[in-house]
Amino acid sequence: MPEHDVIVVGAGAAGSSAAFHLAQRGRRVLLLERQPPGRSKPCGGGMAASVQRWFPFDLSPAVDQVIRRVCFTWCLEDPVVAELPGDAPFWIVRRAVLDQFLADRALEAGAELRHGVDVVGLERRQGLWRVGLRDGQELSATAVLIADGSGSTLATSHGLGSPRPRYAATVSVEVEASLAQPDTARFEFGLVHHGFCWAFPRQGGWSIGVGTFIGQQEADSEAVLAALLPSLGLPADAGRRQHGRLRIWDGHHPLHGRGPAEGLLVAGDAASLCDPFLAEGLRPALMSGCRAAEAFDRWLDGEQEALPLYSRRLRADWGESMAWGKRIAQVFYRLPRVGYQLGIKRPTAPQRIAQILSGDMGYGDIAQRVIRRLMFQRG
Ligand SMILES: Cc1cc2nc3c(=O)[nH]c(=O)nc-3n(C[C@H](O)[C@H](O)[C@H](O)COP(=O)(O)OP(=O)(O)OC[C@H]3O[C@@H](n4cnc5c(N)ncnc54)[C@H](O)[C@@H]3O)c2cc1C
Repeated sequence: MPEHDVIVVGAGAAGSSAAFHLAQRGRRVLLLERQPPGRSKPCGGGMAASVQRWFPFDLSPAVDQVIRRVCFTWCLEDPVVAELPGDAPFWIVRRAVLDQFLADRALEAGAELRHGVDVVGLERRQGLWRVGLRDGQELSATAVLIADGSGSTLATSHGLGSPRPRYAATVSVEVEASLAQPDTARFEFGLVHHGFCWAFPRQGGWSIGVGTFIGQQEADSEAVLAALLPSLGLPADAGRRQHGRLRIWDGHHPLHGRGPAEGLLVAGDAASLCDPFLAEGLRPALMSGCRAAEAFDRWLDGEQEALPLYSRRLRADWGESMAWGKRIAQVFYRLPRVGYQLGIKRPTAPQRIAQILSGDMGYGDIAQRVIRRLMFQRG
């Protein structure tokens, strides 16, 4: 008898949401996290409010700011403003708060959580998964969810997710400031070669970032920030820069282990689910965490198909849209001025972008509209 039904590696958005849903279904779940509690991580924290539908408890205590409007610019000029539909369609969260909030709900539901635990190995012996820790301990479980984020090595070494992950290069800066328009999120497309920068308002300041999505080469972020920060009324050198790599979606891959790796699933960044156009990674992390829990629950009840079905459902409900997102990114970030003029400055674009950000529409819907427009030459 293993000590746990499921061990979840990584208490980020994906892992914590999976642990909650497993515990709520009465499974013995252990959530392992390398970092100490409350540790912040580089993240803009922008999240579609539609993620609420995956949780039976209210997420609003973890919400820092409600966004009602987005403003797009090209080289800080030529603004396009989109009003977001609905009451509170897009949220800004602080990651340390969101991750802890979800982990706390998992604990209340009966999960066990251990911080400061570094998982270094994963091996299946005699039908059980053995999870090796850096201090030499070994834990056992019937199943394991790999949710260890963009730096994951566990997923690729067991044949899950992309065999050669692709990364966006990111720089993030948190700046304390008082804000004139705390309900407006900004996206700037002209300053960054092969990417964009963003400024998301949060309580008491800005969460600012620069991302490059083609070529894995970091943007000249200092030059970008020297232009962006003063445009927000901030000193050019404000805030501490944190450089990072974000694993982005790069093709359809199995997210479940097969043969000797049966009983393994991968979720969130470790599964390369992050949007390759706008770096949206929280929604797919939460979605995959919730779906992984459901899949494990069924599999533990003897439904053999439940784990392959997890891969298929994420492909249908997220991957197909990301395949279009990748194509859009490849064209847009190579010809961003044309992309901005033809894509973002169209009269209907603000509404479409608002629908994408609030999770109402996928990139496939947009691409199909563009194709129809080209075929029928309609505006
Ligand atoms: C600069 C930046 C800005 C971003 N802005 C946005 C945004 O505005 N909106 C959005 O939707 N997405 C954004 N993203 C993406 C988003 O942050 C990620 O997609 C999201 O964090 C994925 O969640 P996760 O749970 O998969 O991974 P993570 O949140 O990275 O969680 C993985 C966890 O696993 C732990 N871990 C790792 N290795 C081990 C190990 N060996 N043993 C135990 N624990 C381990 C880590 O400490 C971590 O807590 C941004 C990313 C970056 C870098």
